[in-house]
Amino acid sequence: MDIRNIGIAAHIDAGKTTVTERVLFLAGVTHRMGEVHDGQATMDFMKQEQERGITIAAAAISCVWRNIAINIIDTPGHVDFTLEVERSLRVLDGMVGVFCAVGGVEPQSETVWSQADLHRVPRIAFINKMDRPGADFDAAVNDMRTVLDANAIPYQVPIIRDELFCGVVDLVQMCAFLYEGFERTEVPIPPQMQPAVTAARQTLVEALAEFDDALMERYLNGEEITADELRASTRRAVGRMLVVPVLAGAAYRNSGVHLLLDAVVDYLPSPKDVGAVVGTDLDRPDKTHSRNPTPGDPFAALAFKIIHDPFVGQQTFVRVYSGTLKRGDTIWNSTRGIKERVGRILRIKANERAELEQAEAGHIVALIGLKKTITGDTLCDPANPLLLESIIVPRSVVSQRIFAPSQKEQERLMAALKRLALEDPSFTLTLDSETRDIVLGGMGELHLEVIVDRLRSEFHVPCEVETPQVAYREALQHAVQVNYKHVKQTGGHGQYAHVVIAFEPNPEQELRFSSSIRGGAVPSEYFPAIQKGIQHTMLAGVLAGYPVMGVTATLVDGGFHTVDSSDMAFRTAGAQCFKQALREGDTRLLEPMMKVDIGTPDEYIGEIVGYLGAHRGKVVSMRRFRKGAQKINALVPLAEMFGFATPLRTMSSGRANFAMEFSAYEPVPAAVQQQIIEQRRRR
Ligand code: GDP
Repeated sequence: MDIRNIGIAAHIDAGKTTVTERVLFLAGVTHRMGEVHDGQATMDFMKQEQERGITIAAAAISCVWRNIAINIIDTPGHVDFTLEVERSLRVLDGMVGVFCAVGGVEPQSETVWSQADLHRVPRIAFINKMDRPGADFDAAVNDMRTVLDANAIPYQVPIIRDELFCGVVDLVQMCAFLYEGFERTEVPIPPQMQPAVTAARQTLVEALAEFDDALMERYLNGEEITADELRASTRRAVGRMLVVPVLAGAAYRNSGVHLLLDAVVDYLPSPKDVGAVVGTDLDRPDKTHSRNPTPGDPFAALAFKIIHDPFVGQQTFVRVYSGTLKRGDTIWNSTRGIKERVGRILRIKANERAELEQAEAGHIVALIGLKKTITGDTLCDPANPLLLESIIVPRSVVSQRIFAPSQKEQERLMAALKRLALEDPSFTLTLDSETRDIVLGGMGELHLEVIVDRLRSEFHVPCEVETPQVAYREALQHAVQVNYKHVKQTGGHGQYAHVVIAFEPNPEQELRFSSSIRGGAVPSEYFPAIQKGIQHTMLAGVLAGYPVMGVTATLVDGGFHTVDSSDMAFRTAGAQCFKQALREGDTRLLEPMMKVDIGTPDEYIGEIVGYLGAHRGKVVSMRRFRKGAQKINALVPLAEMFGFATPLRTMSSGRANFAMEFSAYEPVPAAVQQQIIEQRRRR
């Protein structure tokens, strides 16, 4: 069976859940429609998603349309879940962008859209909520063209009667459909619409002909272009990301979903269209291996999501790129260098699971029985190993201390947190080295809020949290060389270690350590201890105890003592030497700067820009993105953005909205740095 692996992406509230739900209903998976209003939607099977009405976890759900298997990989619309978006984009072959016919392109859709550009994901668009007052199909298409820079082409013309949306003219088949409930009736194209329809079809054909010479020739010769020709031409153009076909509908009223499913099948690529996947050799990163999307090639897959389920245990969602995986197979996790055994293979159909004997190239399935595999790992044939490009895990920018009421609960809390961290690598877990408090790290306020909710509701662990804090970093500003001697004489054996280390800032998060010593001034057996010492200091810097950003350390000289030198002594020397370097190298506090996109009606711009200015924000650009509305693009320190939704709502009477994502770490202004250090001391 041919396959489509797709994602449905939308701004919160545009109707992604409703669209997904209707798709699953039509494609025969769910037998009862769950209304989003009741919090019953199938895709939202995690409890707090239902409460919030937003979708967090990317789960894959399968259904069948016109004898083609469609796997829907859930894609969250909120940028606090960057990693979720990234990982779904990695494994899908095509995407449906859902937009609200009233709201048009909202800032958050813009973020997801540009991520999809980056991953070169072919797209079609569905303008939803056409039934709402103020719905404007043409304005939404226009928004897509100007704001998203998409070559958005209407494939339908909405039929509006008495200001009510009641159907569409399909510009490919050149026929009209009227919608009533799940029923759609084919009718002749309303005569009064004929001129508009003829013009729209011409626009469509011309848009395709631009990339299709054969079509161009037939068009110029005035020949009749058939629906099949248009479909084939569209499929090629969508696959190359040259056009974005746009459809209209109202998912809530079940209108337009049939044609949307037809478009998914007709226009979005299958795994075969996407072609071979390329990975690197395990021993030689410069050498590549390619695997064809066929059942006969060696097995290769990417794990993209771990979900713990109370009934079946840990489910590892994988995208199979090549080969065939059978139940009971032993496979190789080449990222971790371990063997894993596949206990069961499941295909998830909304709330049902189908047990499979095998999974083939192109499939998206859940594996049961894998123990150590995490998101981003490559799974492959042990005899033909390779490494697929992993999923980049963004660094956390917000931290929050969490407490359990008792020692016993503390253990349960830790166990639950560990499991959540396994499911979501963008969520980090550390112990404060001084207070021993558990510190959570995440991508934003909402990200951590959701985690704490899950602890309470899903794991039933009572816990208290402090307000979220900015995850500051400390960074060495310039190169410095330190000569450090650790000498201690306490009766019997003493401690002796002498190191001379050149430190230099580097943009990475880790430590790069090497030695340029010749002649064994410090024996190489002590290098690991020195390195450990530096790493220990990196966990908590000298300014305010925040983690230190990347450094390059080169051991240039030193000395040892045959009796008094030890790993312990060199570890201390490494740690102290680096501390001294941080003091001498003008260490600065860095803070996460956020890229903030605000969409607002004109009348609130003054106040919003004033607010940003008063909160250390810099407006980068402003542009009109809709009639009477502008887009403000700014860089603002995260420290100033906690709870921003509330003032924004007040300033704009709830009419502006925003999206925010991490941009870069930048030095904190000196005066602010002093305040932060003092606050930290007082704690
Ligand atoms: P999501 O946040 O993108 O998943 O959006 P939902 O599917 O949860 O929809 C948000 C709200 O819009 C819900 O109250 C839906 O019932 C409503 N909704 C969804 N589709 C339509 C539609 O076509 N027309 C109207 N009027 N409301 C809709």
